[in-house]
Parts: sequence; structure tokens; C-alpha cells
Amino acid sequence: MTDAPSWWWADLGGLPAPRPPLARDADADVCIVGAGFTGLWTAYELCRADPSLRVIVVESEVAGYGASGRNGGWLLGELSTGAQLRDEAGEQAIAALQRAAQQTVDEVAAACARERIDCDLVKGGSLTVAQTDAQLARLRHMGRGELLDAHAAAARVRVAGLRGARFTPHCARVHPAKLCRGLAAAAERHGATIHERTPALSIAPGHVRTPHGEVRARWVVRATEGYTPTLPGARRELLPLRSSMIVTEPLDGATWAQIGWQGGATIDDAAHAYCYLQRTADGRIALGGRGHPYHFGSRTDRADTVVGDTVRQLRRRLERLFPILRGVAVEGAWAGVFGVSRDWAASVHCDRITGLCWAGGYAGEGVAAANLAARTLRDLILGRDTELTRLAWVEHRSRSWEPEPLRWLAVQAVYGLMRTADAIESRTGRPSRLAALAGAVAGR
Ligand SMILES: Cc1cc2nc3c(=O)[nH]c(=O)nc-3n(C[C@H](O)[C@H](O)[C@H](O)COP(=O)(O)OP(=O)(O)OC[C@H]3O[C@@H](n4cnc5c(N)ncnc54)[C@H](O)[C@@H]3O)c2cc1C
Repeated sequence: MTDAPSWWWADLGGLPAPRPPLARDADADVCIVGAGFTGLWTAYELCRADPSLRVIVVESEVAGYGASGRNGGWLLGELSTGAQLRDEAGEQAIAALQRAAQQTVDEVAAACARERIDCDLVKGGSLTVAQTDAQLARLRHMGRGELLDAHAAAARVRVAGLRGARFTPHCARVHPAKLCRGLAAAAERHGATIHERTPALSIAPGHVRTPHGEVRARWVVRATEGYTPTLPGARRELLPLRSSMIVTEPLDGATWAQIGWQGGATIDDAAHAYCYLQRTADGRIALGGRGHPYHFGSRTDRADTVVGDTVRQLRRRLERLFPILRGVAVEGAWAGVFGVSRDWAASVHCDRITGLCWAGGYAGEGVAAANLAARTLRDLILGRDTELTRLAWVEHRSRSWEPEPLRWLAVQAVYGLMRTADAIESRTGRPSRLAALAGAVAGR
């Protein structure tokens, strides 16, 4: 792979040449730190809503270098809420939040059409497949979507040992790097300025300090999700969880016919330590899973190389789903981090007094959520009282993560328990209680 942090970027010929860094001190109305989906959509939405606003985005690498240019490309109409937020907000408010998340899939599709962003977007829904009776039992209790028996599920995809599946229409497949590239250009067309290779050294009310100068702004938006712990004073706010991915060579027509996976539906499995897949526009399978989920001390390696045992583990998952793919060439492997709050709820914040705003904690479901967060931040910053600003995740507070070594131990325990639960379930066919224990340790 070139200097690209994911196969998605390699597919576009590597990362683009960086935009000029900040040259000197600057004044703006809004300074956004981080040019992933959260930062870029926020810049785009603000500039569209009020073209007179001066919006500056500072990005430590280049736009889309983080999770936004590395993910599985699931534009999923669902938000991570967590038990605490569900209890506090109540059923109706959570339903309104999930409806807004569902509508976001079409919002993003409409914005891509409007801005002529070609990112291979296909709204084909999403299928969660069960390969064991225990997984099928879990799918039966999942509230959303349509439950399919083994026969109906096999008509959509022929997974080995398929017991059944759940289908939701609220998901589209995208090529994440194409979306980042197109969105950054759209934000610029609408008037935003993006400075790359410009890391924020500190964020404070009214200003963002970088090695090249300071940006003074009424509003400062922190849009650094999984990288947030690297900022002073924010080490324990979000946990950077790692996800790793592989992508196969393009599969030929005969192989696709045997797999029987039609259209753009994304697929995951109902394992506790689940994996997620997309069929790319050029006929490959991109598959992701946890690998080594966490580095001690919330360390985030920028380039993030994937070790051989993770590639082997992900390949085994692929072969367990589709045995016909034994021996298929893997042409890319990469990893990235996303942010998880202590109670697993995503949230959006805007302090009108200090002007400090942030959004994140999407817990691995951030591709669509970042757009919803951005439209919400737009309304909050512009002082509008809208349906978006009244959604339950706005100003939802989560406590900090524990100091080390407790954080590291908890993550190892949770993923160890989930993997053991999966192994027990495939052996016995019965749901394992260890998964509930993992949930309790994680505080979900
Ligand atoms: C492998 C993987 C697969 C995933 N799959 C999916 C999926 O299929 N569907 C889904 O919904 N979600 C998925 N996610 C999660 C999703 O990608 C993220 O939640 C989402 O992209 C977060 O966007 P963001 O803009 O908030 O953060 P990021 O995209 O991480 O952007 C943050 C940006 O801030 C920059 N930055 C960091 N520190 C500083 C600083 N000090 N100064 C300036 N800039 C800084 C970074 O370089 C980065 O570009 C996945 C994540 C990973 C890692």
C-alpha cells in the first residue's frame, strides 16, 4: 500500500496532496478541529446555511485520514444509545432519535446527489445473519427489521450453516474515501477553508492553538472522535476502540453466483464479537472485525498497521461465512480507531457560553451519525430551536473512563468474554451467559 491509511485510499491512488497548512494567526466565526465526517459535514452544513460565516477546519493530517477514510462503508440508520441514555430519555425520545438516524441515510444520499459526490452509494439495506441457533435466538429478540427464515435469508446471501437473518432497509453501502474526498471539496465550494497538516495543540474557548499559529473563533468544534484522548484534558472522555479490516481481490461472476449476495446490502453476523462486510462496487468483499481492540493508555497509532494474526483471524471469519473463498487473495489490510463513551451513547454538545462544541462517541456507527450530528451542531450554533436540537442525545453526559490499567483490563475482559461466549455458543448451540457479563463489565 502507498502512504494510504486504508485500501479505500489506496484504491484512489493514495492520499491526495495536502492542502496548505495554516500560515499565520487567523480569525473565524467557527473553527472545526478534525476533518473526518463530523468536521466536514459540520463545515458543509454551516456554510450552506449561512454563506457569510467564516469557517476554518484544521486537520492534523489530511481530510479523511482518520476513521472516516478507513471504515466499513456502512451508512447505517442507527445510533449507539447505551442503557443509561435509554433509561434517562425514555422510549419515545429514543424512538425519535432512531427515526432521525434512519432518515439520515436518505439525507446523505440526497446531499451526495446534490453535490455530485460519486461514492458508490447503494441503499440496499442490511442483513444480520445467524450461523448458530444461539445467534438465531438473539435475532428473534432484536426489535428492529424483518426476521427471515433460513430459506428466505438464503435467497439474499448463501452463508454456510445459515439459520436465518434479520433485514433492515435503513442502510446504504458507500466507498468511504470517495465520500471524504467529495465532501471536503463540497465544503470548500460552499466557502469553508480546510488547513491540512495543521494539528490543534490545544482547544480553549475562543481559540485553537496550532504549531503554525492560532485560530480565534466564537465557536470551536472538536470533531476528533477516536483521537480525542490525544488532546490535553480529554484523555478519558472517549475510549479509542480499534477495528481492523481486510479486502479481497475482485471475485469473478461464478463466485458471486455461488455466494448469491445480490446488490448493495451490507452484511454482519450475530456473533458477540461480530464481523461486518460490504460488497464493493468493483466486486470485492471488505470485511472488518475487532482484531486487537485497544492499546494501553488510549494510544492511537496514526498509520496503524495490522498484524498478521489479525489478518488470519479476519480471513478465517470470511471463510467460515463463505467456504468457497478459501485461498482467496487478500489485497489490503488496515485498522483505525473510533470513539466510545463510558455509557456507549453517542452525543452532541454545544455550550453557548464558552462556544465549545463537540460530537462523537458513535461507537462504530459513525458514518451516518456524523451527518446527523453535523446538522444538529449547525442548528445549535445558529441558535435555532428545531426537532434536531431537541433529540435525546443533545447534551447527554457520560462519565469519564477509568484510569489505566483498569481501562485496558476492562477492554481485554470484555472481548475475551465475548469470544469465549461465541465459542461456547457454536459448540452447544445455546446462548451463553458470558455475553451478559461482558455487557455488564463494558457498562453498555
Ligand atoms: C475500521 C473501522 C470500521 C468502521 N466501520 C464503520 C461502518 O461501517 N459504519 C459506521 O457507521 N461506522 C464505522 N466506523 C466508525 C466511523 O468510521 C467513525 O465513527 C466516524 O468516521 C467518525 O468520524 P469523525 O469525523 O468523528 O472522526 P474521524 O474520521 O476519526 O476524524 C477525526 C479527524 O481528526 C483529526 N485529528 C485528530 N486529532 C487532531 C488534532 N489534534 N488536530 C487536528 N486534527 C486532528 C484526525 O486526523 C481525523 O482526520 C468504523 C471505524 C473504523 C476504524
